Amino acid sequence: AKTGSISNYVFFSSEMHAQEMEKLAIINDLQQALERNEFELYYQPQFSLNKQEVYGFEALIRWNHQEKGIIPPLKFIPIAEETGIIIEIGKWVLRTACLQQVAWYQQHAKAMCVAVNISMKEFQNTSFIGSVSNIIKETGIDSKYLELEITESIAMCDVKFVIQTLIQLKELGVSISIDDFGTGYSSLHVLKTLPIDQLKIDRSFIQDIQSNHQDKAIVETFITLAKKLQLSLVAEGVELDDQRKFLEELHCDIIQGYLISPPLKAQDTLRYLQ
Ligand code: C2E
Ligand code: CA
Ligand code: CA
Ligand code: CA
Repeated sequence: AKTGSISNYVFFSSEMHAQEMEKLAIINDLQQALERNEFELYYQPQFSLNKQEVYGFEALIRWNHQEKGIIPPLKFIPIAEETGIIIEIGKWVLRTACLQQVAWYQQHAKAMCVAVNISMKEFQNTSFIGSVSNIIKETGIDSKYLELEITESIAMCDVKFVIQTLIQLKELGVSISIDDFGTGYSSLHVLKTLPIDQLKIDRSFIQDIQSNHQDKAIVETFITLAKKLQLSLVAEGVELDDQRKFLEELHCDIIQGYLISPPLKAQDTLRYLQ
């Protein structure tokens, strides 16, 4: 029994070691990724059920690592947050997404919205408002087409600071969306206190919406709540036509998910700009 537990320990520890090594490698490579231009934004269409058309896209980052291939954001964004390099990455993301919006407009005469994910670390950075403001000016985007997605957990920090920051962002003309809505501890508090424009219902509520009565009731309630508070509402992670039908019956306006399209490379968004 003793040997067993020792070998278990050794196994566990070498697994930990491998994870630590991978993390260190990522920290190391992240520094160079920006300089080497290894990041790329993909764009996932957002579809209005009322208008039956794509009206905008969410920008989602990918890392084309020179040896490891594509690394998904959940593998490196948390590490980038820990090390602080997320500030630089975030500026790159925002600038690139704004330039793309301007390109859609100038090259295809289509005013599409673009939504950008903002991490908590970026939001709390003292130069955040200044960066957003500069990037809007630099890129020439009409800020009413720019949406910033933040998560509910942001409201768990200093509420006064959060409200102040949101007000300044809204003065710049951008709109604010609450991502993964319903998964945090503060959903209703968020609705009551923060000046926001949109809710994105988390995929976990949509997944089993056809079979799970609780999920259906929750989504129905979110939709009603959003309407009463004059917020727009997006259902995330819609994969099946049955889910779409259900959401349509509940008078949900906007859906996003593999059913409409996976996130696309910039050049592949053109088919939605006809
Ligand atoms: P998120 O903001 O909640 O983004 C939605 C995620 O769900 C994306 O994963 C998207 O590809 C995926 N998705 C979309 N439709 C479906 C569907 O129908 N079914 C399923 N199963 N998944 C779907 P992705 O691109 O891997 O991004 C993961 C997370 O990484 C994002 O979650 C966001 O929190 C973060 N992230 C992505 N890009 C950025 C970025 O530029 N900046 C920051 N700070 N975070 C980012
Ligand atoms: Ca998002
Ligand atoms: Ca989300
Ligand atoms: Ca998420």
